[in-house]
Amino acid sequence: ILATLLRGPLLSLARSDRARRLAVKVPITAAVVSRFVPGETVDECLKAVRALAANGLLTTIDHLGEDTSSEADAAAIRDAYLRLLTALAEAGLTDVAEVSVKLTALGIGLPDGRRIALANARAICAAAQEVGTTVTVDAEDHTTTDTTLGILAELRREFPGTAGVLQAYLHRTIEDVAVLNGEGSRIRLCKGAYAEPAEVAHQTREEVSASYLACTRVLMDGAGLPMLATHDPELITAIPELAGAAGRGKGEYEFQMLYGIRTDEQRRLAAAGETVRVYVPYGTDWWGYFIRRLAERPANLAFFLRALFGR
Ligand code: FAD
Repeated sequence: ILATLLRGPLLSLARSDRARRLAVKVPITAAVVSRFVPGETVDECLKAVRALAANGLLTTIDHLGEDTSSEADAAAIRDAYLRLLTALAEAGLTDVAEVSVKLTALGIGLPDGRRIALANARAICAAAQEVGTTVTVDAEDHTTTDTTLGILAELRREFPGTAGVLQAYLHRTIEDVAVLNGEGSRIRLCKGAYAEPAEVAHQTREEVSASYLACTRVLMDGAGLPMLATHDPELITAIPELAGAAGRGKGEYEFQMLYGIRTDEQRRLAAAGETVRVYVPYGTDWWGYFIRRLAERPANLAFFLRALFGR
């Protein structure tokens, strides 16, 4: 009940520019934030990637940022990705790490945003291909779904390995998975992290889980690579069973989890021979990402407030 009550207000806070500007100036939050965000710099991020790789874990790296308000800011985020990809290549990590991008960070919300975001995303996909890795285009709130999937389709014409993300909480997703499960299609399936109205999204945990399983079945029966992003123990148990029923073995699908969440489970699955990829965010613009993690689990909020007030 507490989680449901807090989710809406927290998700509004995640979008607050004022709160975000204040938060980045509060150093005390750093220790709490670092559970979910391993660092602000590329070096700190690469250190985390190496440590995960030592445990057999792959990564997808997010240069934090979202809802950019100018074309120059969007270009700066694109350039940060280009530097990150160069650094990954220099560090010899492109076989274990790819990148995840948010189109709102790349300018989709600006006037003429589709063109701007597509151009920025294309530059990142080209750089990723150049160094031998791939890009996943994250899913954001439902007002961006159509444009995001349209941009994904365009990117895939040039860069077929580009992955998309579908959110099981959206009613439309059961149809989207059927469209996007063709040969070579890399699709991350997650529950969905935004506050969405009942017209577009399932509202209860049970409905979201049922949709997640139905969508997983469609992906497993398809010809693409299903990337199942969840920490939910029930779903994690069901996934290999659904894979087996569709004739897929380990390595023919991938588990994905977030940095700092259920770390033992990430290692356990990797040690059992599963492919596991960890989403690693880094950078200074951690506010929106961090608050969504609090909204998923009120216990995290208590932990955050205790650290903030020094108790
Ligand atoms: P839940 O039912 O929320 O969690 C199950 C269990 O996992 C909890 O009981 C708890 O033990 C643990 N857990 C979950 N969250 C937390 C937390 N924050 N802190 C501590 N423990 C926790 N959403 C999008 O909308 N777009 C995206 O592009 C996107 N990309 C993602 C990429 C990855 C790799 C992952 C793992 C998630 C992504 N998400 C994305 C977030 C996702 O939509 C969910 O909000 C989030 O994963 C929580 O759902 P869950 O499936 O883990 O299940």
